Amino acid sequence: MQTDLAPQYRDTAEGRAAEAILRKCVHCGFCTATCPTYQLLGDELDGPRGRIYLIKQVLEGHTPGRATQIHLDRCLTCRNCETTCPSGVEYGALLEIGRELVERQVKRPVGERLARGALRHGLTSPAFGPAVKLGQAVRRWLPASLAQKLPAAPPRTMPRQAASESFSEPPASTAPVAPGAAAAPPVSGAAPEGHGTAAAPIARAPEPTPEAPGAAAALSPPAGVAAATRQVWMLDGCVQPTLAPAINTATRRVLERAGITAHSAPAAGCCGAIALHLADTEGALRAMRRNIDAWWPAIDSGEVEGLVMNASGCGVTVKDYGRLLAHDPRYAERSRRISELTRDLAEWLPELCQRLPTAPLQGRRLVVQAPCTLQHGQRLPHALEAGLRSLGATVRGARQEAHLCCGSAGTYSVLQPELSQALRDRKLAGLAAEPDETIVSANIGCIQHLGATSKQPVRHWVEVLDEALEASPA
Ligand code: SF4
Ligand code: SF4
Repeated sequence: MQTDLAPQYRDTAEGRAAEAILRKCVHCGFCTATCPTYQLLGDELDGPRGRIYLIKQVLEGHTPGRATQIHLDRCLTCRNCETTCPSGVEYGALLEIGRELVERQVKRPVGERLARGALRHGLTSPAFGPAVKLGQAVRRWLPASLAQKLPAAPPRTMPRQAASESFSEPPASTAPVAPGAAAAPPVSGAAPEGHGTAAAPIARAPEPTPEAPGAAAALSPPAGVAAATRQVWMLDGCVQPTLAPAINTATRRVLERAGITAHSAPAAGCCGAIALHLADTEGALRAMRRNIDAWWPAIDSGEVEGLVMNASGCGVTVKDYGRLLAHDPRYAERSRRISELTRDLAEWLPELCQRLPTAPLQGRRLVVQAPCTLQHGQRLPHALEAGLRSLGATVRGARQEAHLCCGSAGTYSVLQPELSQALRDRKLAGLAAEPDETIVSANIGCIQHLGATSKQPVRHWVEVLDEALEASPA
């Protein structure tokens, strides 16, 4: 596609990047056929080719209006179009540029500004956990769309282990640790943006104490399994420790059984995806630099071999740090290296299969929902299905439309509830889970969104694996 950039963009980094992407697009429209918003709305401007055209117009100097902003807002950033595109158009990167340019020029209505500001700062704030607990207490008076988003409150009495997994702070047995320190600092999951402490060196996992019953069971490898010799960073996530803390607990326990200790850097926080989705590129880059500062010393020294991500939405973002910070001389090399060393938890499955007991998932019937951030963003459409099958489960994907987004898409389910809910209904129909099947996913957003109305359970696959391992004889 020929472009003629306006003078104000011609010699800028964003202008050059956008132009290189635009030149690859041959306007064939193949991508339109697989775009969820085009399928729902039937408007060319709510499909990738139309949005590319709108962004091109802005870069060529046309003043965008509210209509352009709305068409760009409706994009899920699912990147299904990138998987379909035969020309390798990096639509997601172009959309980031386009949204930011439009955001600078088009003022939003006050209600929208307030909602976006609340999401931008609320989800990464220390107040998020208490706010969720308050919401649980007053759930019956909340609108249904909001009440659905809240996880179930823990019952007043529950088994010891399950209880420990239901609070926003991980149990002592799984507390993130910092190498070299005498004692690991207390951790509340992801440190909110701007609230982190200085990067800490890594410490060994704390010894179980009388105050932490169950710690030994969680951290000691089962008989016959070697003590952990490999160390990785893990990102707890900003909402996951509050909405579904059991996912991080299960991840640590499964990795530990395979001889891998997952550490959380106290100073790391939100990966930056929330800010990026809301067109706050500078805010996103700040979060990314803070995380790199937290992870880098142990990566550089070789104490930690890489990063494991158990939320594919965070993983796809951290894998993109190298591109997003390529222009920053202080962070270009470190961000590139961090991205290279980042792997989704599903990418560890081949190694886990070799290190865990044989076929722990035998007898389980799983329906895999591969999040867009895994299948399109990270280009791992089959990693989860193949890995879970190797662990003995009976596995299948969606019966139809496996490529389509479930409608969660970060903050999309809040900002675009009608489209989001229509896509969720369609996704659940496509998955068509039977009563004896469990839907498994790899991203907290999809799990919460689908789980709100699914008749069958929707869980992170690592929770199912952890449960099976705990139940199997050592
Ligand atoms: S499929 Fe690719 S080349 Fe064709 S219109 Fe879409 S983005 Fe452009
Ligand atoms: S990212 Fe998804 S919603 Fe956005 S244009 Fe591409 S296919 Fe459509």
